[in-house]
Amino acid sequence: MSDSLTIAIDGSAASGKSTLGWALAKKLNYLYLDTGVMYRAVTWAALHHHIDPHDEAAVTALAEKISLQILPPTKNDGRQATVLVDGTDITWEIRTPKVDANVSLVSSYPGVRRVLTEQQREIAAHGAVVMVGRDIGTVVLPHADLKLFIEASVEVRARRRYNERIARGEQADFDALLASMIRRDKLDREKPISPMIPADDAIIINTNNLSQEEVVARVLALVNEKMAQKKVAHGSR
Ligand code: C5P
Repeated sequence: MSDSLTIAIDGSAASGKSTLGWALAKKLNYLYLDTGVMYRAVTWAALHHHIDPHDEAAVTALAEKISLQILPPTKNDGRQATVLVDGTDITWEIRTPKVDANVSLVSSYPGVRRVLTEQQREIAAHGAVVMVGRDIGTVVLPHADLKLFIEASVEVRARRRYNERIARGEQADFDALLASMIRRDKLDREKPISPMIPADDAIIINTNNLSQEEVVARVLALVNEKMAQKKVAHGSR
């Protein structure tokens, strides 16, 4: 039996969870999946097809119909994955303020969650995976070997998003980003299904005063601990 782990990382927008997940997957040579891109891709597709994001039935039917592919990066432009909807590369289009403003609503629809959760479980079926999102430890992979919940204050997170956009040469308005993040946090926390909450057995890490390297080092120590426990458990059978 393999000693590789299934790692679930949840947390709010710009908490540092994707950067952590990506670095961890690289170091461990694991598959990396940021599930947020899947909810963003469905939202983008709805807007693209002029479907009202409030029309739950139409958005759900669309989620069932579209072909969504998350591939390893096909371009060296800072992307962590290439996102294709029906063959079109929408990797950067899913990061617009319009998608930000509608994605929590779209991700609150049970039918959309059912379709995407199923795809996420299939991707994780072989283990050796780092999966990032809001409900990975609670709903998608409740039996994950290691569950982390990443936190940071909303001001720190809005500043990070602002800096990311500026670094990509885009325009950014800090106050608008902060307001959008406060709104999205509230919607994500209060979603009646799959709300953003830590699993009972998640380890909570606050990244306000930690560098990315410090967070990765801390988590790698936890990973090594878990791997050792798994080896002992297999050896003693
Ligand atoms: O992580 P990111 O900000 O890209 O996620 C976009 C949105 O997708 C979140 O605000 C949340 O509403 C939704 N989401 C979700 N469940 C996940 C991942 C993301 O509901 N597992």
